[in-house]
Amino acid sequence: MNISDSERIASLLEKNNYKPASEITEANLVIFNTCGIRQAAENRAYSLIHTLRKARPEIKIILTGCLANRKDVQKRLEKKVDFFCEIKDFQEKFKNFVIKNYLKTKNLKLKIPAQQKDTHCSNYLSINPKYNNSHSALVPIMTGCNNFCSYCVVPYARGREVSRPDAEIIAEIKNLIKDGCKEITLLGQNVNSYHYSSVKPELNSRYRELSSGFTEE
Ligand code: SF4
Repeated sequence: MNISDSERIASLLEKNNYKPASEITEANLVIFNTCGIRQAAENRAYSLIHTLRKARPEIKIILTGCLANRKDVQKRLEKKVDFFCEIKDFQEKFKNFVIKNYLKTKNLKLKIPAQQKDTHCSNYLSINPKYNNSHSALVPIMTGCNNFCSYCVVPYARGREVSRPDAEIIAEIKNLIKDGCKEITLLGQNVNSYHYSSVKPELNSRYRELSSGFTEE
């Protein structure tokens, strides 16, 4: 899922006139799309961010992915990361906040906007990705999970289940087939829970309530 999310981030950056750097140490802006499923993955991110910040104090660092919304991570990295942004808010916050208010305005004091509630459709999934492979593609159909298994961080890191509109998924797949893609993997944290109704959208949230059996607030 993070690979697929990174393909969407890459496409968003290119649309905003950024070009990929040949080496991480050559970049002006580095986005860490983090994984928090195991401590080793977290530690690798801490180590890389620390090394990069030491070598290039002027570099801009954005942290997204599973660690972005964790308060302990934000505190630990507050002097090393310029901006924390949940992946589901990435499109809106990158455009409206980072580009307009920060990257073009030096020395502006950063304030992290309040976290948005889950929306009916997670709009970052509607970004056209820059696929890493022309023959085999990852297509997310939903994100998040309502199950709260005791050992798993996903419902806290990615939030509740949000299914992507079927028309959007089918359009992405048709484009891939047209471009010669031979293998398509449908992605989600809990793909068996996929449910989307454009006719009765109220049923989508009802379904989510029923399937979660859990109330957070
Ligand atoms: S069902 Fe959801 S909470 Fe359980 S392991 Fe899978 S992603 Fe984690």
